[in-house]
Amino acid sequence: MEKSNTINIIHNQNDDSRKTAKRLREKLLNKGFKTTDYFDEDAFLNICIGGDGAFLRAIHRFNFSEVPFIGINTGHLGFFQEISPDNLDNFIDKLSEGKYSIEKLYLVEGIVCTRTSCIELLGINEIVVKGIESKTIHLNISINDTYLERFSGDGIIISTPMGSTGYNLSAGGSVVYPNLNVLQLTPLAPINSKVYRSLTSSAIIPANMYIKINPEYRDENSILIVVDGKQYRFDNIVEMSFKVSDMRINLLTIGKRNFWSDIKDKFL
Ligand code: NAP
Repeated sequence: MEKSNTINIIHNQNDDSRKTAKRLREKLLNKGFKTTDYFDEDAFLNICIGGDGAFLRAIHRFNFSEVPFIGINTGHLGFFQEISPDNLDNFIDKLSEGKYSIEKLYLVEGIVCTRTSCIELLGINEIVVKGIESKTIHLNISINDTYLERFSGDGIIISTPMGSTGYNLSAGGSVVYPNLNVLQLTPLAPINSKVYRSLTSSAIIPANMYIKINPEYRDENSILIVVDGKQYRFDNIVEMSFKVSDMRINLLTIGKRNFWSDIKDKFL
């Protein structure tokens, strides 16, 4: 089958993003590409214009499509975004010449079981389990079937390597190199006293293991799940489990990205 030359363009509503989308569309059309502003599953590329937030929302909105994603950063932190609006010509030249490669992004998969059903969730950055209305929650945490701890505190973050520089980093977690196939379990304000004792640091969990969480009975209805910034409430949660998903996101890259320079440029 002939390779598609259609590109899906998605942007947030800020002025810069709208203007960049217009310029990009014109330049792509001039180079013989077709563009859409809806999701065409047969396209060969998804371009997201905005910041990391826009990038995350686009992947969710496009239902974790296999079509590769690339981001254009318009004035945000833009950790995911490789292209700057000043660099559109170079980007389009590289696309036309086929000078790009595809990297894989690991995802975190969660299964949340209530007394009546189980719901599957997929996160690019992280899945957070926390208490509603700022409540302290108590969670029994196991790795595979080995009981690890009874966590008491605000909650926990289960982050992917790419998400390690997001909420995880602000909560004291470590930066993880993106091609390591692991999850990071980071506590949010763990209580340590004569009454409660939980790990105060993050733990790195390999891809062949899963994290199992059973909330205490009194917390079954006090849990908030936050996936890449989007909140979910479920009643009567009895068990949650998390692992590296078998699914991956394809990230198109036109240059050799240097993760450690990106860390220096964006955070230091
Ligand atoms: P948001 O306003 O969309 O994002 C909050 C900040 O996190 C923005 O500056 C965003 O970059 C940045 N960010 C997102 N993913 C990142 C990553 N992988 N590495 C480095 N920085 C990243 O907030 P939201 O809609 O509530 O949630 C989206 C994400 O923000 C979450 O998945 C979470 O990782 C992060 N977040 C962080 C905190 C915190 O640090 N205390 C709290 C809540 C959420 P842009 O400016 O480019 O959009």
